Amino acid sequence: MSFLVLDSIKKSFGQTQVVKDFHMAIEKGEFVSFLGPSGCGKTTILRMIAGFETPSDGVISIAGKNQNGLKTSQRNIGMVFQAYALFPNMSVFDNVAFGLKVAGQPKSEIEKRVKEMLKLIHLEHLADRYPYQLSGGQQQRVALARALAPKPQVLLLDEPLSALDAKIRVSLREEIRQIQRQLGITTVFVTHDQEEALSISDRIVVMNAGRADQIGTPSDIYNRPATRFVASFVGTLNIIDAIVEDPAANTIRIGENVIKLREPIGALKGGDQVSIALRPEAGSLNESATGDTALTGKVVSSQFLGSVVRTRFEVGGNQISFDMFNAPDKILPQLGETVTLRFAASDLLLIKD
Ligand code: ADP
Ligand code: MG
Repeated sequence: MSFLVLDSIKKSFGQTQVVKDFHMAIEKGEFVSFLGPSGCGKTTILRMIAGFETPSDGVISIAGKNQNGLKTSQRNIGMVFQAYALFPNMSVFDNVAFGLKVAGQPKSEIEKRVKEMLKLIHLEHLADRYPYQLSGGQQQRVALARALAPKPQVLLLDEPLSALDAKIRVSLREEIRQIQRQLGITTVFVTHDQEEALSISDRIVVMNAGRADQIGTPSDIYNRPATRFVASFVGTLNIIDAIVEDPAANTIRIGENVIKLREPIGALKGGDQVSIALRPEAGSLNESATGDTALTGKVVSSQFLGSVVRTRFEVGGNQISFDMFNAPDKILPQLGETVTLRFAASDLLLIKD
């Protein structure tokens, strides 16, 4: 049996159901991210795991034990929030010691454990400081140490990086992942940032209006989005409106381009609308490019971004982005120019809504 199980969880506030029949089994030591736009129910799920909210229906269990009816203090959970929720009147040491004191641990044990935790987050030298004397990143590391000190069974992180500067955000997310691996602690991480979720997780749950649209590894989610929502929310995938040309031949039309798909079109009829996804890095403009498929259109923008040139061109009412890495100057697309992007038919994904 999985370590943390959310079985048919529902949650309503008044008439509004914000979590709709959610099911997930998380393994011991796994790092799972909940990814989705604001208001889709991520925090509510976390708060139910922590015991701050009661599910309207369903069962949450940890290590085989039903948590329903247990208070937060009776659950063995560590939590870090977005806002720095340190006790402002306590030193770093006392903040980290807090949960251990509440648990009535002997002083010598507390001292040993706090030192261990401060070492883990590389802040041993700041034990006597107060929260206002720390940077945002340091405060979040202390919050992490405080959450981990009582050796929780599960660590819950609710957008812990979103208030930080971009650079700190990246380095701290690496540090969190490293510490999580080192301790082997089962972790649920909430974020609205797709890159963050892709970079840090064993598995990602893409949430859409109280439901999981897809649960999978970062590469599943990025390369094989299950729905149009996942495709548009995760990554920079192009979502292209196309029309079924000839179902028997498995062809679709995008503007003037008729393209044969690898994936079977299935039960669709000629003239039906379909959505097709194409990754911006999939194609190439080079005449000698390999690829059995081509899309021709007019360039509407082209930006030099250093390591990549990102160009958009218009085909049948769609704007399609493609990225060229190490683009030689001589083939940089010009505005208004007609270009042909070549790629493999297998790069086109049929999106089921
Ligand atoms: P997220 O964390 O994904 O941004 P939340 O879980 O915080 O989303 O909220 C999901 C929905 O539930 C939102 O529409 C929010 O307004 C609503 N909600 C959350 N908590 C409460 C509450 N205590 N009472 C009423 N509505 C709530
Ligand atoms: Mg939230």
